[in-house]
Amino acid sequence: MSAPLLEIRNATKVYGGGFLRTSPVTVALQDYSLTIDAAPATITTIAGESGSGKTTLANVVLGFTELSSGQILYKGTDISTMDKQRLMDYRREVQAVFQDPYAVYNPFYRVKHIFDIVIKNFKMAASKSEARELIENALNVVGMRGEEVLEKYPHQLSGGQRQRMMVARAYLLKPRLIVADEPVSMVDASLRAMILDIMLRLRDEQGISFLYITHDLSTAYQIGDRIHLLYQGQTAERGDTVQVIENPKHPYVQLLINSIPVPDPKIKWGGDSLTSIDDEQMRGNVSSGCRFYPRCPYGMDRCLQQHPPLYTVGAGQHEAACYLYDEQANLPAAKKMAVPA
Ligand code: SF4
Repeated sequence: MSAPLLEIRNATKVYGGGFLRTSPVTVALQDYSLTIDAAPATITTIAGESGSGKTTLANVVLGFTELSSGQILYKGTDISTMDKQRLMDYRREVQAVFQDPYAVYNPFYRVKHIFDIVIKNFKMAASKSEARELIENALNVVGMRGEEVLEKYPHQLSGGQRQRMMVARAYLLKPRLIVADEPVSMVDASLRAMILDIMLRLRDEQGISFLYITHDLSTAYQIGDRIHLLYQGQTAERGDTVQVIENPKHPYVQLLINSIPVPDPKIKWGGDSLTSIDDEQMRGNVSSGCRFYPRCPYGMDRCLQQHPPLYTVGAGQHEAACYLYDEQANLPAAKKMAVPA
C-alpha cells in the first residue's frame, strides 16, 4: 500500500511563552492528526470559527511556520527532514490559494507576472511560446483566456477573476494538493459557485486533492468529502461531511449546527459568541482537559482532568472527542441520559 499523500501526526503549535515567559502562551494547535490518502483525490474540509487553529494548520502545511512538536509527512517523508530536491518537489506539488487574492499580486506588474515567476522558478518551459501554452492551458481550466487578462494590472480585474487566476497559477504546477484557505469568502454568490465547481472538477478530472479551510459550513457541505471541525486547536469531531453535518455528535458541533438552522453562506461563525474568557484560560494550558468544558451542558469531573480522545460515534470513521461516547466509562445515570441524540 502506498504512503498517504499527506499525514499530520500529533501536530502541536504553541505561540508565546519562551525562556523568560514574558508573553502569554497560546496553544494554536494541539495533538492534531489528519491523513489524506494518495488516491482517490478528495476534498477535506477543516472548519472552525476564528481562532480555532485552522489557519495555523494551513501555515504549517505550507511551511510558513514550524511545528512546536509533531510531524507532517508528505508521501511518507517528514517535510522537516527533506533534502533540497524533495523540498522543491513538495513546494511544487503542494500549492496554496488564499482568501484575499489581491494581496498576492504586485500592483506594479501586469498579472502575467505571477505566472512568469512560477515558470522561471520551477524551470518549466524552454521557450516563451512553450511558457505561453502552459499558461493558456491553466487559464482554460478556470474558464479564462490569456488575451483577456494577462496584459492587465491587478486592479483592472474583478475579485472573481483574480481568484480564478490564483487557482490557475496553482494548477500550472500540476499539484497533488491545494491548500485553499477561505478561497470563496470574499467573492459573491455566483462566483463562489463557480470557484467551488472548479475545485470539484480539479478533484475529479485532474486528481488534485484539497485541504479546504473555511468557517462556512454550507460550502463544506456542498463540496467536502470529509470534514474536521476544530475547537480551539483540537479536533472536536471528524468524519464524512454529510454524516457529521446531518448527525453531529460533539456538544460543540451540535451547538454550531443548531445555531445555523438553514445552511446559509451569508451566516458566518466569526466573532466570539461561542468563546468565553474561561475558554481563553483553558487555551493557554497545554495540559488542560476538554476546552469546551466551560460551555458544555454535559460536563463531568473527568472532562477537566484530561482532554478526551476521539471515540467512534458512527460509520465511516465518524469520531468525536467527547467522554459522553466512552462506552467503557461508568458514567452517572443522569449523565448517561444526557448523551445527545
Ligand atoms: Fe462536554 Fe465533557 Fe464532552 Fe467536553 S468531554 S464536550 S466537557 S461532555
